[in-house]
Amino acid sequence: MKSQILQNISLKPYNTFGIDCTAKSFVEVKTVEQLLNILEMVKAEQPKFPSIFILGGGSNVLFLKDFDGLIIKNSITGIEKVKENEKDITLYVSAGENWHNFVLFCLENNYGGVENLSLIPGTVGAAPMQNIGAYGVEIRNVVERVKVIDRKTNKQFWISNKQCQFGYRSSIFKHEAKDKYIIIGVEFRLTKENHVLNTSYGAIKDALENDTPTIQEISKAIISIRESKLPNPKEIGNGGSFFKNPEILSNQFEKLKEEFPAIVGYPISDEITKVPAGWLIEKCGWKGKVVGNTGAHKNQALVLVNYGNAKGEEVWNLAKEIQQSVFNKFGIEIEPEINIVG
Ligand SMILES: Cc1cc2nc3c(=O)[nH]c(=O)nc-3n(C[C@H](O)[C@H](O)[C@H](O)COP(=O)(O)OP(=O)(O)OC[C@H]3O[C@@H](n4cnc5c(N)ncnc54)[C@H](O)[C@@H]3O)c2cc1C
Repeated sequence: MKSQILQNISLKPYNTFGIDCTAKSFVEVKTVEQLLNILEMVKAEQPKFPSIFILGGGSNVLFLKDFDGLIIKNSITGIEKVKENEKDITLYVSAGENWHNFVLFCLENNYGGVENLSLIPGTVGAAPMQNIGAYGVEIRNVVERVKVIDRKTNKQFWISNKQCQFGYRSSIFKHEAKDKYIIIGVEFRLTKENHVLNTSYGAIKDALENDTPTIQEISKAIISIRESKLPNPKEIGNGGSFFKNPEILSNQFEKLKEEFPAIVGYPISDEITKVPAGWLIEKCGWKGKVVGNTGAHKNQALVLVNYGNAKGEEVWNLAKEIQQSVFNKFGIEIEPEINIVG
């Protein structure tokens, strides 16, 4: 069945910030074949579609204005077994699968490796984009390779874990290969026994009832921590952490510590220290502050929220003000984690 291109569609239900803007053209694809047909059509009918944007669950985007081109919503689903042995299993997961549903599937089957990434919103296909991570685990730990379509040639091929150049909230798809590929599926290698547990975060330890938890118990603990800490986008529009945690030179950190003894930092090498952006923003007085229709959440200053009818520009202006105030106070530049569109 062919997918239908719709005109002038509100994007409000398609982004967790709940920004009400319009896409000039919008199409949902449910199979790779439908996606390829759309890409061929876009090529044939240029300049009708000045730009295309691939959308998953819309949980990591901020639309600044109406989108003039074609939004392709990736809803290609399916989970297939590629191979397995006694110890582990390789699964191919289509890009439009909901990430948390995939985590639940793994937990039901006792496949380990993604339990710490429970309850992260969005799709499997977007997960490699920023190497999603939480509670000491990143997707790079379990990705074997990523299947993509080259947007120029419409050819399909694989990108290995190494070629993905995964880093902290980053990958080749956000940098060198930005807008070059559409991810259509991801291959994961997961453990079937001897799961490698990561319970190093204090909050997880506190939430667990015993010292030798199962992956299901770890997931349950993480879900309850996340539900108590993060605003639910269904209740209040947001895109999770708006900024990345900045990585600064360790000697800059030491100097800051003299001036701000309470500053928190995590050394990631001899030269580099990671500083929690939420702490910096909070110390600039933003936590819980409401600015028009937007603001920094009362429990988590790193999460900017839409109190109802915020425009994308309004949220972005607040973000820029926050960036400036953090720079003025600490001399640290904080970068958005979220993808700004427009
Ligand atoms: C409440 C909340 C909590 C969050 N917690 C975390 C967290 O703990 N850790 C974390 O890492 N992130 C977190 N996030 C951010 C977000 O969930 C992830 O970045 C997620 O992977 C985004 O998936 P998505 O499908 O919604 O992507 P979208 O928002 O739809 O898209 C994000 C980007 O990926 C591109 N893209 C999407 N799909 C494809 C594809 N198939 N091919 C090519 N490009 C594509 C889009 O063009 C866009 O640039 C959180 C967000 C929210 C709202």
